[in-house]
Amino acid sequence: MSTIFISNHPLVSHKLTRLRDKTTKSKKFRELTREISALLAYEATADLETAPRSVETPLSIADGVELKQTIGLVPILRSGLGMVEGIWGLMPSAEVWHIGLYRDESTLQPVQYYNKLPLEPTVSVCLVLDPMLATGGSAVATVDILKDWGVQKIKFIGILAAPEGVEAMQIAHPDVPLHLAVIDKHLNEHGYIVPGLGDAGDRQFGTG
Ligand code: URA
Repeated sequence: MSTIFISNHPLVSHKLTRLRDKTTKSKKFRELTREISALLAYEATADLETAPRSVETPLSIADGVELKQTIGLVPILRSGLGMVEGIWGLMPSAEVWHIGLYRDESTLQPVQYYNKLPLEPTVSVCLVLDPMLATGGSAVATVDILKDWGVQKIKFIGILAAPEGVEAMQIAHPDVPLHLAVIDKHLNEHGYIVPGLGDAGDRQFGTG
């Protein structure tokens, strides 16, 4: 079973409510997405490994640490893009690897259209970013790609999830922890999370 972390931080809950609000405009929506993502990533990275590193202060030597692992941020196009900036600000040396998937309407299976991963993995921890874990198809396929690439540790960070998406990840990738702001009630017949927030891509990019 994947470990599921639901943030109960009041800042996340407050911002999530404003994100859901249908009167929230694109600029504010992007700002909230960025802020919630950073808060979720702060919690999701609490177990990153560190190595000792001492520094010279103006007065003396201080014991300190540095991050041991190289981190990859993997936004699933297109709505995962809005989650990058806030998280990247916390870990500026992370690499960003984009994965593009669309859903084939006849088979309903995710089809890859963008993937520029080099042959050998360049990062040891990947944070997969998608604000909406709906059916779970894209998240499962992205983790498949990263495991094939040879990444040792993968975590998923999303904002809203449907029980269906959580279950799909638990079946396909029980080793991948899920960091979420909330699990909503269900998916509707069009694959939208209910009550959700609508189309996260359209609301970020003003295309709705
Ligand atoms: N993708 C979205 O943008 N919204 C949903 O509700 C489900 C998937």
